Amino acid sequence: MVTPLELDERYSRQVLFRGIGAEGQRRLTASRVTLVGCGATGSALAALLARAGVGTIRIIDRDYVEPSNLQRQTLFDEADAAESLPKAIAAARKIAAFNSEIVIESHVSDLIPANIDALFEEPQLILDGTDNFETRYLINDFAIKNSIPWIYTAAVGSYGVTLNVIPGKTACLACIFSNPPQGTFETCETAGILNSAVNLAASIAATEAVKLLVGAENCLRRTLLSFDLWRNERAEVAADKPRAGCNTCGEHEFPHLTGEGRPHITLCGRNSVQIHERHRPVDLAEMGERLKPLGAVRHNDFVLKFWHEPYEMTLFPDGRAIIKGTTDKTVAKSLYARYVGS
Ligand SMILES: [Zn+2]
Repeated sequence: MVTPLELDERYSRQVLFRGIGAEGQRRLTASRVTLVGCGATGSALAALLARAGVGTIRIIDRDYVEPSNLQRQTLFDEADAAESLPKAIAAARKIAAFNSEIVIESHVSDLIPANIDALFEEPQLILDGTDNFETRYLINDFAIKNSIPWIYTAAVGSYGVTLNVIPGKTACLACIFSNPPQGTFETCETAGILNSAVNLAASIAATEAVKLLVGAENCLRRTLLSFDLWRNERAEVAADKPRAGCNTCGEHEFPHLTGEGRPHITLCGRNSVQIHERHRPVDLAEMGERLKPLGAVRHNDFVLKFWHEPYEMTLFPDGRAIIKGTTDKTVAKSLYARYVGS
């Protein structure tokens, strides 16, 4: 344990930095940030901002820690993966071990139009640690509508990209990409990912977050910045003002907030189907007993995992499930009905 005297020293090197100072540190302590997604980008953002002393960080993530995460998701360890701990819970535990003075609010949940108002409340800043465009356009709509800044961050392979969105002042995500990309595109599960690329993208985004929170708005980058660490390439696209005619920040149309066109079953990565149409709580302990005769089953307070060759089901207390071993929605639905009930 550290003594109160040593705690005064915690931020001393950061306070010495002229861009922050004592006043900047006070502002960080008083600030409130919401992080959507706590995978690789989210881990790095959460760790950096928690160590920097951001007073309250709300972490929203529906996933649990898996062995394949450990190569790049710096907040998690083997014990978390063995326990299949939800990332939002594991992250809060890790952060508490190195900074017990700040508040971490964990929400084991998907961010969807139906819960975005409740989950977001009043953050000063929203950070993107997600892995999909559906959620990013949802965040963009919410941020523009409510005039809350957010920072887009993404990485795949050796490539990373980030953009600061200050509503009314800079371009928004839809100013630059009018619509979410269609069809198939590379993901970490198809193209792999370098841990250094995702951590660099997150480091840049965390720095921009600190500038914004301490009031150094004039130092914020006003471009879409991308880099490829393997090819030694770097590019910037101007994003210093909203695009005339942008449906989101110009016309104030927010289709993603009403969930238009949003499927109830979505593919989440390769060879798996997520089912989130059933909003009835599940008693994981009871379900574990019921599934025991059918295959291997393991559960804790947050998640149940069930293996029945060739399928693997992950079930959450809210009734949401991820079924691995198929991409066929009909098959996944009938498995769900069989295992969990309809
Ligand atoms: Zn826009």
